[in-house]
Amino acid sequence: MPYCPECDANIDFLYSIWNETIHYQEHFSGSGFEGDVEEVDSELNGSREFECPECGDVILRTIEAAEEFFEEETPRQNPNSDIRINNV
Ligand SMILES: [Zn+2]
Repeated sequence: MPYCPECDANIDFLYSIWNETIHYQEHFSGSGFEGDVEEVDSELNGSREFECPECGDVILRTIEAAEEFFEEETPRQNPNSDIRINNV
């Protein structure tokens, strides 16, 4: 499993975070609001980010980079850190 470059935790998933504007519409007449609220459009604001679930730092900013993160076995700088216990 890959390791977070910020906190060195061994992680098997990332939090994918994005900001999106969603446009809704509903009917309004003399008798007030009627029917269901309907989602008519949505728009991604900025880019998606990927956070480490352990330290919360943003470590990647594209889906492609996140896919590579799990494909490659990232070599550790210090092999002795395997015995380190991460406080969760
Ligand atoms: Zn981390």
